[in-house]
Amino acid sequence: MSASPSEQQPDSPMLETAFFEGRFVPFAEAKISVGTHAVQYGTGAFAGIRGYLDADGETINIFRLPEHCKRLLNSAKLLRARLPFTRETLAETIVELVERNAPRGDVYIRPFVYKSSIQLTPRLKGLDDELAIYMLALGDYLDTRGVTAAVSSWVRVPDQAIPGRGKLSGSYVNAALAKDEAEEKGVDEAILLDSHGHVAEGSACNLFLVRDGVLTTTPITGDILEGITRRTVIEFARDAGVAVAEREIDRSELYLAEEAFFCGTGVQVAPISTIDGRPIGEGIPGPVTAEISRIFYDTVRGRHDGYRHLLTPVRRTVAVPAD
Ligand code: PMP
Repeated sequence: MSASPSEQQPDSPMLETAFFEGRFVPFAEAKISVGTHAVQYGTGAFAGIRGYLDADGETINIFRLPEHCKRLLNSAKLLRARLPFTRETLAETIVELVERNAPRGDVYIRPFVYKSSIQLTPRLKGLDDELAIYMLALGDYLDTRGVTAAVSSWVRVPDQAIPGRGKLSGSYVNAALAKDEAEEKGVDEAILLDSHGHVAEGSACNLFLVRDGVLTTTPITGDILEGITRRTVIEFARDAGVAVAEREIDRSELYLAEEAFFCGTGVQVAPISTIDGRPIGEGIPGPVTAEISRIFYDTVRGRHDGYRHLLTPVRRTVAVPAD
């Protein structure tokens, strides 16, 4: 049984206002039926977007908002969802939600596209689609000073089963199985292999290794989510003159890597200290990981002039109640 509302209250990180089926409403009113198709069959798609308090203490910097909107609409396309939103109007709605909530610190924004019909057949076509968005206060999700990892016995869901390049709700059962197994082994995060035995990604993050000085990661055809942080890390590395390779990675290469780190909206940049109990490199973070982390955290706080274009700044004003 879940906690009663009063038990949840004291440290609830939820922000007051949500967007739900076309209107701004109090978060508590953003509710769907237990019979909803997406609840029963996982026929939803979501985004996870971070907003960071700028070094000025006033502005919330939404990180790569246009890219998140594009990927969410692509995920919706995989679900054959029809929505009255373009990338631009979706981004405007998210900005308005942030303005209305006027957060005082870092936030996580969770848009959710879902098959809203109450319908018994697991199909995609001919069902109603809706959009909801809520947001919460969020700090670090994994310890950004260093995490432990283990290769999972669960295989990353292949594109021929459920397309993992989109953030489709149903495929997160795969992530959850791997995450539980990792935690029950006493490590922080799982590394999933694909169905051919190559390294795919973490349960909710992409993975980079450094081998012979080359920053190496699985290609987007390797059954991974097309991570926005992953793409950003590649851009940062190339701009900094670090060689980058997108190629298949064998499991045993994990053990030989000079450096390894996870990246993603939630985990940000998280150096890996051990994989399957084997220490990675010579202490963390290694030099490439440290450089990428520095650029990443400077960028999101608005301290890197060269990467300001990756941010959508929202000036904090006074919270506006729901409609
Ligand atoms: N892989 C999976 C399975 C994820 O859930 C996430 C988190 N969205 C990532 C990778 C990282 O993607 P992004 O950088 O776009 O957050």
